[in-house]
Amino acid sequence: MKIGSFLAYHLKAGVIGKAALRFERLRSKWKAGRKGTAGNDSLVPPLASRFRMKELISQQYLAGNYANGVKKVAWVASGAPVEILQALDYFVYFPDNHSALCGARRQAVEFATEAENAGYSRDICSYPRTEIGAFLTGRSPVGRIPKPDLIVCSNNICQTILQWYQVMAAYHKAQFVNIDTPFLYEGPKDHQIEYVQKQLEDLISIAERIAGKSLKYARLKEALRLGKEASELWLAILNRAQTKPSPLTAFDAFINMGPIVALRGQPETISFYRNMLKEVDERISKGVGAVKNEKARLLWDNLPIWYRLSWLSQLLAERGVNVVISNYTYGWGELAPLMDPLRPIESMARVYLMPYLNRSVQYKLQSMKNMVKDFDLDGVILHSDRSCKPYSIGQIDQRNELVNGLGIPAMLLEADHNDSRVFSEQQTKNRLEAFVEMLC
Ligand code: SF4
Repeated sequence: MKIGSFLAYHLKAGVIGKAALRFERLRSKWKAGRKGTAGNDSLVPPLASRFRMKELISQQYLAGNYANGVKKVAWVASGAPVEILQALDYFVYFPDNHSALCGARRQAVEFATEAENAGYSRDICSYPRTEIGAFLTGRSPVGRIPKPDLIVCSNNICQTILQWYQVMAAYHKAQFVNIDTPFLYEGPKDHQIEYVQKQLEDLISIAERIAGKSLKYARLKEALRLGKEASELWLAILNRAQTKPSPLTAFDAFINMGPIVALRGQPETISFYRNMLKEVDERISKGVGAVKNEKARLLWDNLPIWYRLSWLSQLLAERGVNVVISNYTYGWGELAPLMDPLRPIESMARVYLMPYLNRSVQYKLQSMKNMVKDFDLDGVILHSDRSCKPYSIGQIDQRNELVNGLGIPAMLLEADHNDSRVFSEQQTKNRLEAFVEMLC
C-alpha cells in the first residue's frame, strides 16, 4: 500500500472529510431552522434525519474517491450478498445507489444519453444507462468512483442486472460473480437454498483470493447482525405509518432509504435509523401527521420517480393525500426476521432468494392487499415504470384485483424512475387530480 494513498484515504476522506461533512450538516440544519422551515400549508417540515442521511452517504462516496490502493474495491448490486465483502474489509460501491442518486440530482438523462450514443438502446433500464454513461465519461456528482477489483450481482431482481454488471466487469477488467437465484413460485425449497448457499461459498473463495486473506466467520456474523438490526429498525420506521395521521410519507422513506441499501452492516446506519425512529415517534406522541390534513392514505407500488419526489409529494399533500407506504421501501425491511447471524450462509441464501422480484406476481399482489389492510389505505398508485419491467409486469391485473377484489380505487401512472424524458408533468397532474377526486 502506498503511503500517499493511505494518508489521502485516512486524512482527506477520514479525519478532514468527516469533519467538513459534519460541519456542512450542522450548517444546513442551522440554515433550515433559521429559515423557520415551517413546512407549508400542506406538509410539515421534512424529517431532520435527512441531514444526517446526506452526511452518511456523502462520507461513503468521499471515502470511495480515495479507496483504490488502500482497500480492495467491490462493486455490488443492491440485492447481492454484501456482508461477505464487508467481512473481508472491501470498500463497497453500489452502482444502483449511485444511479438513483444521479436520478434524484437530475443528471441521469445526461449520462443515459452518453450510453445511448455509445450504442446502448433506450429500451434498456435507465439505471444501467445512467451508470454506463457515468463510467464511460468518467463523470459523477460524487467525484471519482473507485475502480473495481471484484463485481458482484445477483439476478434475484432481474436479468438486466446480469448483463449490466457483465458489461461493467468487462469494461473494468474485473472479476465478475453472479449469484444465480431460482425464481420462486412458492418456497424457497431446501434444494434452492443449498444451490444459492454453494454459490455463496464459491464467492467467499474468490473474494478471499482477491483480498489476499481468509474470511473470519465472526466478522461475517457481525456484519449480518448489524444488517439485521438496521433492517429491523427500518421496518419499524415504515410500520409507524400505520398510525393515523401517518408521521411520515413514502417520499420521506424514499429520501432516507440510502443507508439501508448502501450502508447496511455499518454501526452508523443503526444509530441513524434509531434516531430517525425517535424522530418519527416524537411526531406520533404529538399527534403530528406528515401531511397536515390527511384525508386519504395510499400505497405506492414500484420504484419512485426520483427526479419528481418533492413535486409529487407536494401535489398530493395539497389535496390531503398521503402516500404512506411503498412496497419498494418495505422490501428492505420485511426480510429482516429471516436473517440469522448464527447461521450466516444459510440465512443469507434464504434472504437473497426472497426479494419481491424473485417471487410470483401473485405474491406481490397478496402483499399489496396485506398493506391495504395493515395501513388502512384508501387507494393504490401503481407506478408503471417503463424501465423496470419485472416490477411493472402484471400491474393491470393487479390493479383490477385491487379494484374488484378489495373495492378500493387503484390507478396506473406511466413514468420512468430515472429517465425524465418519458415523464409528462401535465399528464401526470391531470391523472392524479382525477384519481384524487374519487378519493377525497
Ligand atoms: S430493471 Fe428494475 S430491477 Fe432491473 S436494474 Fe432496472 S430498476 Fe433494477
